[in-house]
Amino acid sequence: MVSRVIPVEEFDLVIFGGTGDLARRKILPGLFRRFLSGQMPSGSRIIGAARSDLDTDGYRQMIRAAIAEFGGVEKSDTKIEEFLAQLHYIPVDAKGEAGWKELHDLIRFEVVNAFYFSVAPSLFGDLAERLHTFNIADNDSRVVVEKPFGRDLATAQELNDTLAEHFNETQIYRIDHYLGKETVQNLMAVRFGNMLFEPLWNNHYVDHIQITVAETVGVGGRGAYYDKSGAMRDMVQNHLMQLLCLIAMEAPSQFDADAVRDEKLKVIRALQGVEPHHIVRGQYDAKGDKASYRQDAEDPKSFTESFIALRCEIANWRWAGVPFYMRTGKKLKARSSEITVVFKDLGHSIFPGDEKRHRNILSIQLQPNEGIQLQVTIKEPGPGGMRLIDVPLDMTFADALGLDADDSPDAYERLIMDVMRGNQTLFMRGDEVEAAWAWTDPIIEGWKARSDVPKLYDQGSSGPEDAMALMHREDRRWRDIKE
Ligand code: NAP
Repeated sequence: MVSRVIPVEEFDLVIFGGTGDLARRKILPGLFRRFLSGQMPSGSRIIGAARSDLDTDGYRQMIRAAIAEFGGVEKSDTKIEEFLAQLHYIPVDAKGEAGWKELHDLIRFEVVNAFYFSVAPSLFGDLAERLHTFNIADNDSRVVVEKPFGRDLATAQELNDTLAEHFNETQIYRIDHYLGKETVQNLMAVRFGNMLFEPLWNNHYVDHIQITVAETVGVGGRGAYYDKSGAMRDMVQNHLMQLLCLIAMEAPSQFDADAVRDEKLKVIRALQGVEPHHIVRGQYDAKGDKASYRQDAEDPKSFTESFIALRCEIANWRWAGVPFYMRTGKKLKARSSEITVVFKDLGHSIFPGDEKRHRNILSIQLQPNEGIQLQVTIKEPGPGGMRLIDVPLDMTFADALGLDADDSPDAYERLIMDVMRGNQTLFMRGDEVEAAWAWTDPIIEGWKARSDVPKLYDQGSSGPEDAMALMHREDRRWRDIKE
């Protein structure tokens, strides 16, 4: 099935930090793919802005190389020339005066204009202020901001306040690229577009929910930077929290940005604090010649976690008493992100000799392959009586819908096009981010107060043994981490 491409309106997109890693690896290759799909109108312009002393030609060379390395598409010389012709570059210093007047003269106010802050958050305030001082942004402009959005509630509030001095909330697009994934949106379609699941989606029928985001990579290369955050700040507060919201939220009255985000916010606010014995933190150990977390982090005494597993509950009528288990970690056995809804056991089996526990399990995979599977119990085919087996009803999208992986935009591409459309549904609102930090902060403070030391785990494993015990002692099991 070929995905339908609806072109967005003509735009000027300024990428502050246009020479940086994120711009070269994700944003520009993503925009190129949208250009190839016909979604980016020919009059649109992408303007790289950073301090590097480049001209537009030099920038085009840089981005040509980036697309060749990270583009993920067949090289097409004529197409890439057409795309590069839409690129411009202006040397701009976020903290100085250089470049701002030139940027003002280049920007067109008659088309959609957006400013992507792909720079360190410490520069957000400088950028926002200068966009206004130099009359570059107006009330229709959009700003896109990257994670991390703060490192605790206080810093997130500060960032929100800084942005709010110059922009309305309707102009601010806080990116969480997990929300741009096809499956995440499909999760809402499955939940709110079918009669089948809604009656069962509550504490009467759901035993528990698991969310796993496992990575095989370590923190090597950016260890010192990662060591200041850790898995809780880097993954749980944002990505896993957003997934939890989508799985647990009530149906919004309609599918619009504020209605969806209102419901997500209610989930975060209903999250209970987490007891210390319901959290396991870990650090990967050295293995052969492979460095340990502490070596990668360049701090032999680091207490920062590269793995976390926790059990939490949502105090509302739908979910009271249902445990939500979340875990994420680096250097685990496979790269896999999965949300799993495990339904309760049947109260009574009518089939003699069938002593196995049969459970319906809905599992939603986000990576590496996106898809949804529903485990159902059926009769084992053939003679020999009523023997029951569990089989998956597989809705792996690539198979079921014949989607070509290249057809399906990646998360960044989709989100950038949503910015151009002015659709904030898949972006975090300021109050959501603050509520998430308000839940996270006491947990992190608790570790500090207790001088909590993370448990070591083997590289290539599923994390520390204690993370298994977190489930085992409640007679539950984590799903196997596999690609
Ligand atoms: P990076 O490679 O260090 O790039 C930073 C960019 O900011 C460069 O283009 C740099 O260019 C520019 N810059 C620095 N100081 C500036 C100033 N005073 N005025 C104007 N431009 C300035 O960082 P990155 O990895 O691309 O990350 C950018 C943002 O995205 C960060 O907030 C990061 O946390 C977030 N993020 C990154 C990733 C990723 O995969 N890389 C993933 C998620 C979120 P010049 O040196 O030429 O000025």
